[in-house]
Amino acid sequence: MKLLTTVLVAAGISGLISIAAPARAAAPESKSQITILYDAFGTDPSMTRDWGFSALVEVAGKRILFDTGNDADIFAANVRAKGIDLKTLDFVVLSHRHSDHMAGLNYVLSVNPGVKIYAPKEGFGIYGSSLPSSFYRKDETLPPEMRYYGGSPPQVMKFGAAWRDANFDLIDKTTEIAPGMTLIALVSDIPGTRELKELSLAVNTSEGLVLVVGCSHPGIEKIVEAAVAINPKIHLIAGGFHLVVGSDDVIAKAVAALKDGFKAESIAPGHCTGEPTFAALKKAFGDRYLYAGLGTTIPLGANTGSDLRRGEGTGLQQDDLTTYRRLARREDPFGILHARSLRTKASQL
Ligand SMILES: [Zn+2]
Ligand SMILES: [Zn+2]
Repeated sequence: MKLLTTVLVAAGISGLISIAAPARAAAPESKSQITILYDAFGTDPSMTRDWGFSALVEVAGKRILFDTGNDADIFAANVRAKGIDLKTLDFVVLSHRHSDHMAGLNYVLSVNPGVKIYAPKEGFGIYGSSLPSSFYRKDETLPPEMRYYGGSPPQVMKFGAAWRDANFDLIDKTTEIAPGMTLIALVSDIPGTRELKELSLAVNTSEGLVLVVGCSHPGIEKIVEAAVAINPKIHLIAGGFHLVVGSDDVIAKAVAALKDGFKAESIAPGHCTGEPTFAALKKAFGDRYLYAGLGTTIPLGANTGSDLRRGEGTGLQQDDLTTYRRLARREDPFGILHARSLRTKASQL
């Protein structure tokens, strides 16, 4: 018995050592922060302001490049100014196909040609796509020379990407790509960008959900609505909210939805959010409004290095989660659809 106890104690101690050692080694890499690499406002004299968006998201032990800006040369210079090594990225997310978010991709690929790139899957889109050959109607009475592929099409028809050798992983629907990391895929139904698919990055941390949005063409409220289905506790929303041409009424409703409806804890708006919306959000969120100009690094808090699974946010019991999820599934939980119907026609950006 004594021997068994000794063995168990020894095993316990060695177990502790083996758990503790990697944790110490990993500590320097597990900083959690978002660094803005591309935007049209900011004060960092070493960087160039331009319309577009890109951010380095370091969270849950991963380094993620979210969007790549509007101009490859400016993007490259801004990346160098911050001393960022694109060779060590875990992956890239391209939120949507607008050039102010993807024009720096050529530079990324010149540095790191094999990096995994998550991009929206769209029919005949520039990131490539595919369809089963059953999609087109056949006519077997035609001679083979009048038939596609002589009448014997491949099972899956592949359509080319503008970056042929890039390592794209095309996202069709909301997908958890790593533990606690979800790409929310939504489609815009707004005139000017109708049918445009956009990806937003939602990372579940022990402080709640960190949500990074590119241009929010499907509507910021619609994106947050999808995010609260993952975790109702929204720790931070960063990126472009696409209210740059919104009326005061539309802006006020969106701000109320974010602050009072979804109860976002903090907000770091940039890009196409719009100057009047910056003002309205600053007024509403006070010191929970985190300035996110070009070159800014936004810390995500000490506890955001974890990789909780969906719906495991702290501070919420199962009953609360059930209630929130029910709310999120309701047709118009916070009057968002009503607000959207009032939205003025937004121009394509
Ligand atoms: Zn856009
Ligand atoms: Zn944009």
